[in-house]
Amino acid sequence: MSKARLFDLSLFAAAVGLALFTHPTVVLDGIYIKAMLLYWAFASFYFQLRIVTRSGNSTIDYAISYTSSFGIFAGPLGTLIYEIFYRTTVYCYKKKTKTADPGEFLDTFYNIGSFTLGGTAAYYLYTLLYPLAARLPAGYWLLFLLVVCVTTFLSSGFLVISFILSGDIKTRKEAFNLLFRSRNLLDFSKVALTNALLLLLLQMEQWEMLIALFLLNYIVSLSFFTKSQIAQHKFERDKFEQMAYQDFLTGTFNRAHMDKMMNELDRSGEYIGVVVADIDRFKKINDTYNHAVGDKVILHFANTLKAHLPEEDILFRSGGEEFTIFLRNKSFRECGLIVQEILLDVGSHSATAEYLDKQIEVSYSASFGLYYFKADQSTSMEKGYVRADQLLLESKKLGRNRLSSKNALLD
Ligand code: GH3
Ligand code: MG
Ligand code: MG
Repeated sequence: MSKARLFDLSLFAAAVGLALFTHPTVVLDGIYIKAMLLYWAFASFYFQLRIVTRSGNSTIDYAISYTSSFGIFAGPLGTLIYEIFYRTTVYCYKKKTKTADPGEFLDTFYNIGSFTLGGTAAYYLYTLLYPLAARLPAGYWLLFLLVVCVTTFLSSGFLVISFILSGDIKTRKEAFNLLFRSRNLLDFSKVALTNALLLLLLQMEQWEMLIALFLLNYIVSLSFFTKSQIAQHKFERDKFEQMAYQDFLTGTFNRAHMDKMMNELDRSGEYIGVVVADIDRFKKINDTYNHAVGDKVILHFANTLKAHLPEEDILFRSGGEEFTIFLRNKSFRECGLIVQEILLDVGSHSATAEYLDKQIEVSYSASFGLYYFKADQSTSMEKGYVRADQLLLESKKLGRNRLSSKNALLD
């Protein structure tokens, strides 16, 4: 048997030993049974919302939930009986729903041991310090905060030891993070307040209020759980959508997004300047240096284009070293001026890249085609793009490093 498993079983043995051989003055009577059944019902109900840590192949849930109030109320033996009852239910539920881990049976012993020891620690700490706390203002509540901190660190400590022994935790930093980083004062306060109220209601035998408090807890958790799941799903959807429409190298939109945008702008009645821009003799750059240097030049070109575009204009990487821009809400003259500025900028700067362990500067030029039109029934976006591409070809034929443009509104 592995060291980790021996540790799990010795926790269980320690919990049983403490429960059987110490004799606190707790009576396991009808009130105890009533309380235990209530805790069991709600803990089982609450189980599906628990936060679970996964480290390597071990899965152990470490939320302490109602352990401290029940531990103080029921004493070590009462807690042990409750934990056996509750953890066995969880085990059977997991077996039935086929969500049990391979080592679930032994994990159950670990959980019974760890949580019973937590409850036992809560019992002794509370019994010892209550006379002192009772004399302080808000002493009862502060005492619960202390009890919850101690029981939480105790169960986290057991978890860390178990993970170290099973090899799931290898560095001190991981152990430290599990012990301290995953907890905050808000968590402690939430658990402390709930347990402090629960114990008061138990001692007063206010069963209806106890159930109301459990329900409140459950409903609040459920609402947060649902909201965080919705937020998580939305985040993932947005991320996928972004990935689907983004070009990895330059961070500009890709061809798929361009097609989507063309559909949206079709027949919108907007005046649009479509610009197609293409780096001149790019193959030569690839051949003279290498593909990585070529990529740097593409990136440099994309950044230059971005720098000249106001917010509403959209830049797409429509091909390898070819970009398309939809200039919006501008006159033909304004569109032409923007492209002229880009031409000047490209001509006066060079891209920096690494080649044969050296920093090199690569100068390049680019050619442009601009087609200005109204996106309506007579001219589709696709047609506008084709025209702009023909104008780009004209620039190439005329000797590159220039703009060829046409204003369709003058026809
Ligand atoms: P022109 O002036 O007529 O545009 O000449 P060109 O060499 O730039 O034209 P062409 O379109 O024939 O060559 C483009 C080259 O770009 C071909 C392809 O290998 C290269 N290319 C395409 N995508 C990438 C890329 O993502 N990275 C790099 N480094 N090269 C690419
Ligand atoms: Mg080219
Ligand atoms: Mg090209």
